[in-house]
Amino acid sequence: MKKYRLPIIMLAVFEIVAVMLWLTKDNLFYLFNFSYIGLSISLGVFLFIRKYKYARRIVQLLVGIYMLIYLGLICRENMQIEGFWYYLFTGVFEAATIHYAVAKIFGPLIFGRGWCGYACWTAMVLDFLPYKEPKEPRKKLGWIRYITFTLSLVFVAALFLAKVGNIERIMFWAFVIGNMAYYGIGIVLAFAFKDNRAFCKYICPITVFLKPMSYFSLIRIKCDKEKCISCGKCKRICPMNVDVTDNSRRRENGTECILCMECVKNCPKNAL
Ligand code: SF4
Ligand code: SF4
Ligand code: SF4
Repeated sequence: MKKYRLPIIMLAVFEIVAVMLWLTKDNLFYLFNFSYIGLSISLGVFLFIRKYKYARRIVQLLVGIYMLIYLGLICRENMQIEGFWYYLFTGVFEAATIHYAVAKIFGPLIFGRGWCGYACWTAMVLDFLPYKEPKEPRKKLGWIRYITFTLSLVFVAALFLAKVGNIERIMFWAFVIGNMAYYGIGIVLAFAFKDNRAFCKYICPITVFLKPMSYFSLIRIKCDKEKCISCGKCKRICPMNVDVTDNSRRRENGTECILCMECVKNCPKNAL
């Protein structure tokens, strides 16, 4: 049982959040929502411990499809960054704001960019593309994320300042069109740069929250220097170009780690 401690703890943490939000907000949705996500993630961790090859992909599909189809398209909740700004401006602490607080702002202090590795519905599709290992050196294009971040904020602020009617409807269509654009740009970039995660590295506005918070992440991949033979395999296969052999928080691309465990699985000396 000891080796299954992590999925049990994760399930318990999500259940505590689920019950607390259910009771404080008097809304059964939160019990269902966080229990479902907690169960999906715990199942993935359980399967990973059992060395099941597709454990992470299963979590990505379970959580990603739920958020995209059920929350986004059926419940019409804009879970993109525009939805976060929208609810923030209206002062409503609802699904999108709670989602951002848990998964993308405060959660990364504990689980880093686990969201990006296991739950993001954009990456869920991008990870099916052929360039799982980047085939070209990383580009210095990370500044683009600050432009997309600013544009998303300006877009929603302009709707409020212009007192546009029926913003809820606009938010729904912004979600649909925004997702189509993300998929389109993400796929084109993946092929152009021979790198499935190019969109994550250069364009995604959410990384403006994720990167600084995940710098302090409690959960990190560390390298046992005694075992490491400096073969370089971990860095070569890392989809995010992290220098995981350096244990410092300032390691190269350290705030990019999505905890996908590819380096751990492939290290010939079990040093990670
Ligand atoms: S960087 Fe953005 S697009 Fe990529 S996985 Fe994270 S949230 Fe999703
Ligand atoms: S794959 Fe393992 S042995 Fe090779 S450099 Fe990385 S940590 Fe060291
Ligand atoms: S391969 Fe290792 S260092 Fe790279 S993102 Fe995945 S877990 Fe992080």
